Amino acid sequence: MSTICLKNARLSDGTLWNVRADVLVDAAEGQIAAIGPDLAGDETIDLTGCTILPGLFDAHVHVVTGQIEYNDVALKNWARAGVLTVRDLGLGDGSHAGDGYLAWRETVRRPDCAEILTAGQAIAARGGYMHRMGPSENGIGVTSPEEARAAILKQLADGCDGVKTAMDLDGMREDTPQLSPEILRTIAETAKSMNVWCCAHVLQSRFLRPLVEGGIPEMAHMVTDPIPEDLLDEMAARRIPVTCTLQAINAPRPPLPPEALASMPPEMKEMIAKLEAIDTVQQERDAVDNARRYHEKGGMLVLGTDTMRMELNPEAVGVPVKEFRLMYEAGLTVQEVLAAATCNAARVCKVDDRLGSIEVGKQANLIAIRSPLDETFEALTHVEFVMNRGVVIKQA
Ligand SMILES: [Zn+2]
Repeated sequence: MSTICLKNARLSDGTLWNVRADVLVDAAEGQIAAIGPDLAGDETIDLTGCTILPGLFDAHVHVVTGQIEYNDVALKNWARAGVLTVRDLGLGDGSHAGDGYLAWRETVRRPDCAEILTAGQAIAARGGYMHRMGPSENGIGVTSPEEARAAILKQLADGCDGVKTAMDLDGMREDTPQLSPEILRTIAETAKSMNVWCCAHVLQSRFLRPLVEGGIPEMAHMVTDPIPEDLLDEMAARRIPVTCTLQAINAPRPPLPPEALASMPPEMKEMIAKLEAIDTVQQERDAVDNARRYHEKGGMLVLGTDTMRMELNPEAVGVPVKEFRLMYEAGLTVQEVLAAATCNAARVCKVDDRLGSIEVGKQANLIAIRSPLDETFEALTHVEFVMNRGVVIKQA
């Protein structure tokens, strides 16, 4: 076997912290072969003064959100930044995963690209949020438990990895159709029987409750209003991980071009005015506070950003330092934040047998930083070294 030895660095992950050891990588298998003092390989990379971390994992992104040709620009930028795995929580271009997206994904299973795990299309209430968004049909709209089960099994047979569902208002309309308790239970049970992950889009506590009671095992956002104490206790008892996406709540929104506003129907204008009136600073505060309270109860938090539209703006992707800082603000230690972005993300995505930590037998997805990882998370803005699947793709 051909081996690469990463020497003289310190190692940190969700369970190790600042441990001095060498890492021996089996380059052909793309796996970690040994960890310990004084290792030697066919090739040596001296990482004196650096800390090696597992490749980062963003558990909530949208890879394709527009009617455009798929490209690998964002995946390459993510990989070079140190984010080596992303979970795609719902196609937004109106296409079925089997129409070309999954075939395209096979072409980007390369060390220079971040790996994509995908839910394909979201399973949503017919006419509800994420079935229709604006004029286009994005998710799979279902009206019965049978339809939900068939849609999930079809997508998994096509090659999707998990299930995304959603409860929310579409355009703030109170009459938006919602999934029934029976359908929610069927979605949760089908995912469980197929041993795949299953998470729900939810931003309000009033929809969080039926999702929790319906057995949905993971939430894809932290909700943006205070979660009632009994519901938070129920979530902790059911060990429901939450992918937080805190940085998306108060992110700057580009203003609409005046010509778009001028040609807009009045009800659309009214809806936009309502959206603009939302106090997103308060929402962010409430969501961070929910994260703090859930963390205190032992609830698992996972890093996700809800990054989208990167096909138009691929430079925007990278290490989500703001999300790391908000999780720290929610009371997680620096190591717990790192765990949220590595081992916790791998665990909820059911790939922790090969990703998420620095352990013998795991995939050699490793990054190195020169400055220590502290509460500013500044070091992650300039990752010095990236190895993906045992291949060095960046070395300062
Ligand atoms: Zn999303």
